[in-house]
Formats: sequence, C-alpha cells, structure tokens
Amino acid sequence: MTTTDSLAWRDEDVRGFGMAVGGPAKVLRPTTVEQIAQAFIEVRARGGEVALRGAGCSYGDASTSKHGFVLDTSRMNRVLAFDPVTGIATVEPGVTVRDLWRRSIGHGFWPRVVSGTMAVSMGGAAAMNIHGKNNFALGSFGEGVKSFELLTPRGELVRCSRDTEPELFHAAIGGFGMLGCFTKLEIETKRVHSGRLRVWGIVAKDLAHNLQILEDLRGQADYLVSWLDLHGKGVALGRGLMHRADQFESGEDPEGLRFFDPGLQDVPPNLFGVIPKGWLWPGMWGAVHLHQVNLVNWLKFQAGYREERHSPYLQTHGAFHFLLDYVPRWQWMTKPGGLIQFQPFVPFEHGERVLRTLIERCHQHGMVPYLGVLKRHRPDPFLMTHAVDGYSLAMDFAVSKSQPKREALWRLCRELAEVVLEAGGRFYYAKDAVLQASSFGRVHGDAAVTKFRALKQKWDPDRLLQTDLSRRMGV
Ligand SMILES: Cc1cc2nc3c(=O)[nH]c(=O)nc-3n(C[C@H](O)[C@H](O)[C@H](O)COP(=O)(O)OP(=O)(O)OC[C@H]3O[C@@H](n4cnc5c(N)ncnc54)[C@H](O)[C@@H]3O)c2cc1C
Repeated sequence: MTTTDSLAWRDEDVRGFGMAVGGPAKVLRPTTVEQIAQAFIEVRARGGEVALRGAGCSYGDASTSKHGFVLDTSRMNRVLAFDPVTGIATVEPGVTVRDLWRRSIGHGFWPRVVSGTMAVSMGGAAAMNIHGKNNFALGSFGEGVKSFELLTPRGELVRCSRDTEPELFHAAIGGFGMLGCFTKLEIETKRVHSGRLRVWGIVAKDLAHNLQILEDLRGQADYLVSWLDLHGKGVALGRGLMHRADQFESGEDPEGLRFFDPGLQDVPPNLFGVIPKGWLWPGMWGAVHLHQVNLVNWLKFQAGYREERHSPYLQTHGAFHFLLDYVPRWQWMTKPGGLIQFQPFVPFEHGERVLRTLIERCHQHGMVPYLGVLKRHRPDPFLMTHAVDGYSLAMDFAVSKSQPKREALWRLCRELAEVVLEAGGRFYYAKDAVLQASSFGRVHGDAAVTKFRALKQKWDPDRLLQTDLSRRMGV
C-alpha cells in the first residue's frame, strides 16, 4: 500500500462484484464533500480521470477504472435524518440498503425498492436506478428519490429535484456516475404493517408458464420474481419457481409487529444456528467446477413442488429480499475466473420469442448460465433508462480462466445482445461487461444519447468522470 499525494490515495485491486473485470487503481475514501471536491481538483491537475464507486456491487466494470483513480463513497454513510411520520430519509451516498431499513423498520417503513443484496449504497442505487422484485408495480429506485445534491466535476454543488434542475435530476438518476457525485439524497420509504410478508412458491413448468404467471399476478401481487433452471431443455425450457410475496394490511398480522425489531430482519450468520455461512461457498465451488450445476438446479426445481404445497408461508422482508446475502462471498464459487451477469430487458410483445432464443443459443454454444432470474418491468421517466414494458432475464455465467473460453463467452453474450437489440430491448449496465460502443445508441435511442452527451459536456466538460464501462461504451 502506498500513499501518492496530499489526499490519501491507496493502490488497490478494484474489481466488479463478479471479479472477472477491473484491475489496479488508486483509491480514495472521502468522508466529506470537501474531500470529493479536492479529489476532483487533484485528479484533474494530474491529467487523470475519476470513477465513482459505492459498495462495488455492480457485477461488471461500472465502478472500476483500470490504472485510474477511484473515489469510493462508502465511508460517507450517515443517515442524516429520518422522519417517522412520512418515512422520508435524508442520507449520505454511502448509506446502504441495510443501513436504511435498519433505521426505518422500527417505525413501520421499508425501502420502496431494494436489490437482491442489502450491501448496495444509495449513491450506487441512484446512479444505476436499481429495480426490485416490485418493479412492475412501484417502478425504479429513482421514482422514490425526492431530491439530491450532486457535486459536479466543475465543483458546483447542485440541488436537483423534479422541480429544480429537472433535466439533471432525470439524467443523473440512471446516469451511471457520469454527471457528478451524489453527496446527499432524500429518499422515500413505504409504510408496512407487518415485519413479514406472505409468500407463495409457484412451480412454472416452462417459459410460457412463467410469463403467464407474471401477467396473471402482476395486478395483484406486491412482489414477483422467478428463479429459472436454465439447464431445462425441450418442454422443460425456461421452467422455474416463481415467488409471489404480498404485504399485510393494517391489523392483519399482529404477531408480525414483533419483526419490526431490526435484529429479527437480518439474515442469520449461521446455518441451523451452528455452521458459519461463510463456509458454504467451497461446496458451491465444487458444484460449479465439477459441472454439477444442472443436478443442483434439478434438485432445486423438484424442491419447488414441496414449497408450492406448503404455500403460503411467512417470511421477514429481509429473508425474502436478500436471499443472495444468505451465503456470504457466494461469488467466490466461480473463482478463479469469476462471473459475469448479463441482464437483457425485452419488450412484452417479443418476450417469449426472444427469451426462448437466448436460452436456446446458450445450449447450442454449450455455455449455460448457472442461474437465471426473471422479472416483470415497467418503463420509467429517466433519460438513460434500461426499463421496458416487458421482462428481464438476469443470466449468471461462470467465467473460465482460459482466455479462449473467456473470449467465446464474450462472443456468445454479444450474439445474444444482437437478438435483444433487434427486438428493441435494452441492457442494464450494473450487470454488463460485454456490450460495445456501437450498442450505446441502440440501447437508448439517438435522441437520448445526444441529450446525455450534451449534459455531460455541460456538467463535466473535461470528461473527468470515467469508468471502464463508460470508456467501453464510448460515453
Ligand atoms: C448479489 C447482488 C444482487 C443484485 N440484485 C439487484 C437487483 O435485484 N436489482 C438491481 O437493480 N440491481 C441489483 N444488483 C446490482 C446493484 O444493485 C447495482 O450494481 C448497484 O448500482 C450497486 O450499488 P453500489 O453502491 O455497489 O454501486 P457501485 O457498483 O459501486 O457503482 C454503481 C454505479 O454507481 C456510480 N456511483 C456510485 N456511487 C456514486 C455516487 N455517490 N454518485 C454518483 N454515482 C455513483 C458508479 O460510478 C457506478 O456507475 C445486485 C448486485 C449484487 C451483487
């Protein structure tokens, strides 16, 4: 570790969550807005570029900068205020989803939109405009942001809301850290009347069944998400287990009020109260490297029938949402090559055809994702939106250490991207490592790209804010 300047930049290996991309960078963890401003000045003077980073939970290269400078806001993590009547929180950018619900749940509020891990920061959530399992109903994270302060590379602290600087408001949310650094955000949470949810497991025999369940239930359910066994072929192609979860009405679950205790929401550190969950990933590593994922998926699918018979059952909000946090460092099961996630968004009218084609192509190329997650979405009002009125399918691929195999995977994903783009689909940069600059206009449309570039020119004329992702996409 070396210190290189007046600010304490440290040499570190900065990677995406999936570990497959990223590299060495100089990292600073500011604790004040003044330090961020100072960092901008210092990096500009050195002719460098800065990547903003929150908790580093983007799977790919959205918050990495190989051989560059990385400004990690995770130490700016104070909840500055929480109004127990309205549920509105004022937070620093490094506050995580976990920090937020721990503060709100005791007052009967839960974050409107949460990701599959609670480690994500508010700055990163806003910059990517994350979605939850309720995207079809409540929309994206940004729709619950009331206002924010953005420190631009020009050194101005700009307050943005739907009324003040609305253009910048709608571009910085979802603007993948290209226009400035969120330094403070005002975020809505939502009222919940129990610390638990009523949950159903529903077996979906194939892709069409999965999509039909989403359509049938999206007017009624609060949350819907389906795990897909992407190893299923023929009549089993796209089979999976859908989870529906509903909130309780006031007074419906008096026993559930006990679970407003944050200690009862957290994911337990031990399995059966004994085995540290941190020990589980080596077993999963075995499944991936001994090519047993298809067997594991088959067993999981069969277990779905039992779950369906025992539905509905009760789960805390934490247990339902943060399944992926149950196994700490689970991504290590893909070492040494790591993993990439690829999450296309496909318009409703092309949903079944395109998703079927994507899964079939994976089979044809012998590179089947070990995990697939299907969700229903709705459009949102942000400039660089990835949302569509349709579906997303997140596909997790283990990456080989062998360069030819790695290149083959990248080629496959680009081939899949073509299928999606031809159907008017979009991509989510938090889950991308493979798209190329030629896709940027096709993902967002020329008008949006022109407007975004103009805003970049206005607020960051020296193009100080860059990441490996933005360079790859030619932003
Ligand atoms: C296990 C797991 C499950 C996930 N599940 C979901 C899910 O269900 N739904 C979903 O939408 N996403 C999901 N994600 C992705 C995750 O929500 C996004 O990648 C999110 O942006 C990560 O936030 P972060 O704080 O880690 O940001 P980082 O990954 O560090 O950065 C993300 C982006 O935000 C920018 N940024 C960071 N801080 C700031 C700031 N202060 N100001 C301006 N820009 C900033 C960065 O430059 C970068 O472009 C998941 C990720 C993991 C690892």
